[in-house]
Amino acid sequence: MLLWTAVLLAFAGPLVARWSEPVLCHPVLIIESDDWGAGPLAQADALRHLSALLQRVRDRSGRPALMTLGVILEVPDGPRIAASNCTEYHALPLTDPRFDDVRAAMADGIAAGVFAPQLHGQCHYWPPAVLAAARTDDRVRAWLTAPEPAVTEGLPSPLQSRWVDASTLPSRALDPAVIEQAVAREAADFEASFRQVPRVAVATTFVWNDAVEAAWAQAGVEAVITPGRRATCRNAAGQPGCVDATMLTGERSLAGPTWLVRDIYFEPALGHPPQRLADGLAARTWQGRACLVETHRFNFLQAGEASLAALEAGLKVALAAFPDLRFVSPLELARALQARDPEWIETRLRPRIAAWRARLDEIPRFRRLSRLSGLALPLALLGGRT
Ligand SMILES: [Zn+2]
Repeated sequence: MLLWTAVLLAFAGPLVARWSEPVLCHPVLIIESDDWGAGPLAQADALRHLSALLQRVRDRSGRPALMTLGVILEVPDGPRIAASNCTEYHALPLTDPRFDDVRAAMADGIAAGVFAPQLHGQCHYWPPAVLAAARTDDRVRAWLTAPEPAVTEGLPSPLQSRWVDASTLPSRALDPAVIEQAVAREAADFEASFRQVPRVAVATTFVWNDAVEAAWAQAGVEAVITPGRRATCRNAAGQPGCVDATMLTGERSLAGPTWLVRDIYFEPALGHPPQRLADGLAARTWQGRACLVETHRFNFLQAGEASLAALEAGLKVALAAFPDLRFVSPLELARALQARDPEWIETRLRPRIAAWRARLDEIPRFRRLSRLSGLALPLALLGGRT
């Protein structure tokens, strides 16, 4: 018993946090898809196919499957940048008439209730950093000056982080005042394209910091999509690093927005099978959590038909496994969590204990120590599945 008490005390922080985290009453599935917006014109067709597919899949209430669109509001204007010999940055905004078809496809899906736009960034890079890198890196220079609207997936990964200067590694932090200005501008551009202020934000490559969150909050953002941890830099190896916070769904950032955790990955073009959606949903449902699934537009541009088929099959397998599954937007989820809406949040003790039990195995070293100390036995009696 003494040993058990010691183990419980040693892990008190993460144990209590997982008890405080709300438990959902229903299985919830949200497909989160990033990188749409300014860019290749082939997106319009991909978006139309996705919209039709999502409208075919409905939950018990008749609501269609929902996919968030992490939106990028501009790409480089290659010819103009080339004309300046890479000394000036010029942008091609999403509001440019050449993107009319892409915007129309997004708007149609939003009107049909299958797309929810969220702020991914003005651009998928920090322009001064890309300009600086272009002076020494021929690949970046070619990318920045290409005549066709750029595919941001083609940039070296560190440069895809918007909220640091990764022109050299390790990256350097940006001035918070500059971040504030940049966010105010991208929020205004988001509103110009979608006639709504951004309520949900997701940082490119999941690198961001307190200054970004404060600026987002000021712009009206209520929910921030996270992978459960916040990286604030690119380290010497170019990887996301300098993690300064970990978070659970429903916790609030210093600046006020609600953190949501997205940690199931479904990229059909990389070979992920449809069953992965159902397995992810099962794991999160046992934990009393929403299942936020990360995917990207490249699946639907590079291997369009196969990825669409895999997504539809995955949604159907998930619905078959959990017929009481609900489709909902991240904003609705965040608001339900903050309001502790009894329509969504479990209040009965037994299901709460079972969900808590299922959450414990993710705590680093806790699983092993609870086994070694014998604490796993009484915990197993609490129910839950892992
Ligand atoms: Zn992205």
